[in-house]
Amino acid sequence: AWHEPVPTEWTRTTCPYCGVGCKLEVGVAGDRIVATRPVIDAPSNKGHLCVKGRYAHGYVDAADRITVPKVRHDGRWRSTDWAEAITLAADGLRRVAAEHGPDAIGVLGSSRATNEENYLTQKFARVVIGTNNVDCCARVCHTPSAAALKHMLGTGVATNSFDDIEQAKTLLVVGANPLENHPVVGARIRQQAQRGAHLIVIDPRRTGLARIADVHLAPRPGTNVPLLNSLAHVLFAEDLVDRDFLAARVEGVEGLAAFMAPWTPERATQLSGVPADAIRRAARLYALERPAMALHGLGLTEHLQGTQGVMALIDLALLTGNLGRAGSGINPLRGQNNVQGAAVMGCDPGTLTGSVRLVDACQRFEAAWGVALPHKPGLNAVTMIDAAHAGKLKALYVIGYDIFASLANADVTAMALSKLDLVIVQDMFLNETANSFGHVFLPVVSSFEKDGTFMNSERRIQRVRRAVAPRGDSLSDAEVLCRLAGELGFGDQFRHTCAEAVWDEIRAVWPAVAGISYGRSSRHGLQWPCVDEYDPGTAVLHARRFANADKAKLEQVDYRPTTECTSEQYPFLLTTGRTLHHFNVGTMTGRTRQQLLRPTDTLDMHPYDAGQLDLRDDMPVRVESRHGEVVLPLRVSDAVAPGQLFATFHDPARMLNRLTGPVRDTVTSAPEYKVVAVRVRLA
Ligand code: SF4
Repeated sequence: AWHEPVPTEWTRTTCPYCGVGCKLEVGVAGDRIVATRPVIDAPSNKGHLCVKGRYAHGYVDAADRITVPKVRHDGRWRSTDWAEAITLAADGLRRVAAEHGPDAIGVLGSSRATNEENYLTQKFARVVIGTNNVDCCARVCHTPSAAALKHMLGTGVATNSFDDIEQAKTLLVVGANPLENHPVVGARIRQQAQRGAHLIVIDPRRTGLARIADVHLAPRPGTNVPLLNSLAHVLFAEDLVDRDFLAARVEGVEGLAAFMAPWTPERATQLSGVPADAIRRAARLYALERPAMALHGLGLTEHLQGTQGVMALIDLALLTGNLGRAGSGINPLRGQNNVQGAAVMGCDPGTLTGSVRLVDACQRFEAAWGVALPHKPGLNAVTMIDAAHAGKLKALYVIGYDIFASLANADVTAMALSKLDLVIVQDMFLNETANSFGHVFLPVVSSFEKDGTFMNSERRIQRVRRAVAPRGDSLSDAEVLCRLAGELGFGDQFRHTCAEAVWDEIRAVWPAVAGISYGRSSRHGLQWPCVDEYDPGTAVLHARRFANADKAKLEQVDYRPTTECTSEQYPFLLTTGRTLHHFNVGTMTGRTRQQLLRPTDTLDMHPYDAGQLDLRDDMPVRVESRHGEVVLPLRVSDAVAPGQLFATFHDPARMLNRLTGPVRDTVTSAPEYKVVAVRVRLA
């Protein structure tokens, strides 16, 4: 029988997985994590945890964790000490900058790292390297949400709080499967629906929430914009718009009314396959049963029209007055614990800490940091790969991000990474990027071995606390960045003694968090904006005015079909996503007992299609797209529609992203993970 010892000490910290940001306590016995339990009075989870937060901490002491620095010679990794690893990394970066200029180097921050560490990462890129080529994995998930929200409302983050779920009379869930991917919030949504709130789900799949929804709109992958436009059409056609709200707070109403006139539900039916009467019913519920709260995921953003899809959703909220009040708003469900924090800290090629544009803030940051900064926007995570392919990017410093396994079109990513002169990987494990392309490996601690803060999906800054000692020689990301900066001659700008000192520097350069001290955020965290020590934080944004103007401007979003289409050769449309038991490319959950619960990725196929192809559960099938192929076990499931497929991407050995293609969001470059034309046959 398996028994864990009884914990002798409990430490309060924040879950390392999704953007719900559940507070938990870590139970330690003999410097080993043996249990976790939820914090009963935490605002985001109220005494609950999902199966990941509760059980998936075993990666901290996984057998293959790397706890000494490594360098690669003649294709083989050799263990070394920090002095040599830092010298080699610094020499390599110095050499590339001297030969090709600072813009031949790219730096990637991490959603796994704290706000403080991401702040130091972008400061390192800008101050030490002298480039704005700095980004993070927000690029491939919710950058479209941030871009659309910032453009239309002035702040690129969730407008409301998780507590608004219980205040909403209608919940509109778009392209998200929170019961599996944000389980504690998913449970709150389901409970609110069971209490009588109306639930509308827009998703090609029959997810758990779709099965209990009042209305499930299942668009063909790639047709969110026509569907959302047709909802706006119904709002105008049936005079369901909020005239008072529009008059007081919105511009562009007449123009949008004319633009939406041809977007009838019948036209949307032709493009999306969603029945017109269901569209009308959803529009009426969203407009009349208020407050109505929209929560969306990557099924809205990871498309050719990702940013525009979010804009079309914001149009609906503005038209119905579902903004600026409790129980309403536009709320991106962030996938990773600190992905939003990483981007807002400035791991973004066009903005500095606080999401301020380079052009508006460079001078202020030059004064704060005491050095001249590059002013030209840099490359993002996706265009860095393009630049590597073209021979223009020569070095990549990747922190806590398995970019090879994560980016779409993996074979092309591999070709690009193989051309780099220097790849520095900073992680807990030799991930696929390190294994295949790394030159220097810098081992770092998990979030249970360090202090700092994470920012959850509702803008809450929450403390992360060290519960166990760092394993082996591993250091925190902050310590590595400071050592590397010192080696490169910038010790004065990186003389931070602790995480709190870094956070206080962040508060000094970003006024919206000036009121969030470590002391004040100690128990429940605080939601920014929180401008001084008397400010209780902000639960609902845009209550009186929008962050950039008194009035928001509606956007006319025209439909542009993706080029990723089915054909006789590729008759199925595949969408990709996560499951309850695993997290992203499995770097952490793949090294826990979660692996027993779901040991492999799968391909879901509707029973009709499986019958046509004479395929049954667990048969290995070869899935081929125009971009690559993988083999997966089949799972027959009525959650997908006939002609559509769904696959998970947690197993790096299967590398699902060999299938996904080059199509990207036209505004932010987020890859179109959600639409891939494929064919399937028995392997
Ligand atoms: Fe962690 Fe998210 Fe689960 Fe909460 S819902 S325990 S934050 S994975």
